[in-house]
Amino acid sequence: MGVMTQSHCPYCSLQCGMQISRKGRAGIEIGAWEEFPVNEGALCRKGWTAGGLRGSRERLTFPLVRDRATGELRAVGWDEALDLVASRLLALQEAHGKDAVAVFGGGGLTNEKAYQLGKFARVALGTSQIDYNGRWCMSSAASAGNQAFGVDRGLPFPLVDVEQADVVVLVGSNLAETMPPAARHLDRLRERGGKVVVVDPRLTPTGERADLFLQPVPGTDLALALGVLHLLDAQGAVDEAYVAERTTGFDDVRRAAAAWWPERVERTTGVATDELRSLVTLLAGADRVMVLTARGAEQHAQGTATVLGWIDVALALGMPGRPYAGYGCLTGQGNGQGGREHGQKADQLPGYRMIDDPAARAHVAQVWGVDPDSLPGKGRSAYELLDSLGQDGGPKALLVHGSNIVVSAPNATRVTQRLESLDLLVVCDIVMSETAALADVVLPVTQWAEETGTMTNLEGRVILRQQAIAPPEGVRSDLDVIAGLAERLGSPAAFATEPEEIFEELGRASAGGKADYAGISYDRIVREKGVFWPCPTPEHPGTPRLFADEFATPDGRARFLVPAYTGPAEEPDPSYPLHLTTGRVLAQYQSGAQTRRIRDLTDEGAFVELHPMLADRIGAVEGRAVLVRTRRGEMSAPARIVTTIRPDTVFVPFHWVGVNRLTNDALDPSSRMPEFKVCAADVSVVEVR
Ligand code: SF4
Repeated sequence: MGVMTQSHCPYCSLQCGMQISRKGRAGIEIGAWEEFPVNEGALCRKGWTAGGLRGSRERLTFPLVRDRATGELRAVGWDEALDLVASRLLALQEAHGKDAVAVFGGGGLTNEKAYQLGKFARVALGTSQIDYNGRWCMSSAASAGNQAFGVDRGLPFPLVDVEQADVVVLVGSNLAETMPPAARHLDRLRERGGKVVVVDPRLTPTGERADLFLQPVPGTDLALALGVLHLLDAQGAVDEAYVAERTTGFDDVRRAAAAWWPERVERTTGVATDELRSLVTLLAGADRVMVLTARGAEQHAQGTATVLGWIDVALALGMPGRPYAGYGCLTGQGNGQGGREHGQKADQLPGYRMIDDPAARAHVAQVWGVDPDSLPGKGRSAYELLDSLGQDGGPKALLVHGSNIVVSAPNATRVTQRLESLDLLVVCDIVMSETAALADVVLPVTQWAEETGTMTNLEGRVILRQQAIAPPEGVRSDLDVIAGLAERLGSPAAFATEPEEIFEELGRASAGGKADYAGISYDRIVREKGVFWPCPTPEHPGTPRLFADEFATPDGRARFLVPAYTGPAEEPDPSYPLHLTTGRVLAQYQSGAQTRRIRDLTDEGAFVELHPMLADRIGAVEGRAVLVRTRRGEMSAPARIVTTIRPDTVFVPFHWVGVNRLTNDALDPSSRMPEFKVCAADVSVVEVR
């Protein structure tokens, strides 16, 4: 075996450490990096097989431009492709204004790319229209964390702290299947005598590990949280001293929760009163309680309110800031955390600064060497941006980096129509994804093991992916694409292409902000196996645990906020009598653009999970196709008949084209998160002719 490079997995937010070695002429092989503390050498099936990404025969290796006469994509040189893109962007901006061009990023991009993309949009293009797919990942938890604690860091403690808690409550997380190496923390917690509670409409491999499993109706997690608060208060289990010293607003929450007596909670959520009482007994008797939410709780039109409800539970128990306790969000995408800190979001500048804050604009503009008044203001959120494409007043061109919108957007038929209505769609990707296939220009870019860059994992730990192998000939980094376009657009600011130089600039831009990276360097990351932000100076040790003494609010206290339960945007009715929910499976990642192309990962295709009672009622047979219909579209897939799902609910994994044609684009008023996790649906048997 040749030289080994220490790096990290290309996929989820755990960012497991791995060793990458060269294999053969151009291949790579994955090995364990046992000293990296987050996964201690363990990887899931996706991680072990990630080397297959390098060898994919579908890899793009030259720019493609759609021929206007034939409608076909044809290979061109880089200069021709970039010249064409720049000239068309300039022409569209000349005709329709700066916001005629939009940028769409991704939560899998490195920090350096996310930072450059935000700067590129604001400085080189001068457009306000930038957002990214992380808006659909955990923006509701981000919004709730900012409101309650004054800062949003997925986990405000290292993941290993889970092992030392007494009770861990997982709301809408299938961690044992989506990030298997993390499940060992739950196992060790239980070996110590701790308890695991799982709240999920499906009994998943995570629920099977639970000491207590609650199976609510999809979209009712907030009502459950309010019911827990009601009983905690009724039983005198609220930590009154903590509430008085470290929080504000509890009286209003107490009044709101008073209306959620157990029988009402049971009627709303389907969780039996005795199960609710069992949960409250566990919580009330524990010294260290950790509440962790994931997409199941967050991807709702009430996602922010739902997370606030569970934060209220943690605060009422006096947990946030206490060792081995508190609230955290299990981020999903590889750089779900860092991707939202450096300026890809429509409303933010690097360092988690708000774009409408004059001091923030002045600081970042000075680092960029531009006039603060030249920076655009807040743009549209991800779905609203896509929905405006090609419409009156909406962008006419879109640049996509690191996102497969056609598969991953809610109400995907509508979004695909919007993409098709653009004057110019440019997609940077490693393979011909479903979104790239629609593009006017496709630019082949480097991936993961072929480049160096930092990621910030779900703990707020900044880690370094080191280049292990040269990219294929003809392929360039997104950083080169951004710099090449910026130059052609006549950008007033310079765009570096070396990742370490960009990281140093990012550190300066983030200095003094909430996500302060100023004291972090590549050398430090390698030496210390990751550094936790905030880390304002090279001498600062980094901050693995937040909130020990105070919260990041102006008065240092956490906020109880009153979430009013209104239920899902769509409730079942006679035409659509069921709940549809979506999620992930072990062998696939996000839109599947990468994992569906790996031979060693089973690409079983989409399936429809339904309960035997429902299957009997409609005549469904295991393995035979059923049709799922919602108000937005339909799809068919083989039935998988399981007792682990509620009889009133069907589940479809979202990694394949067509699933998100079903999902609802109702948005959370604060985070602008679409309601991926529940809508009304009907299921029927597909007649064989
Ligand atoms: Fe680890 Fe996630 Fe990669 Fe699996 S997909 S190896 S859990 S980082």
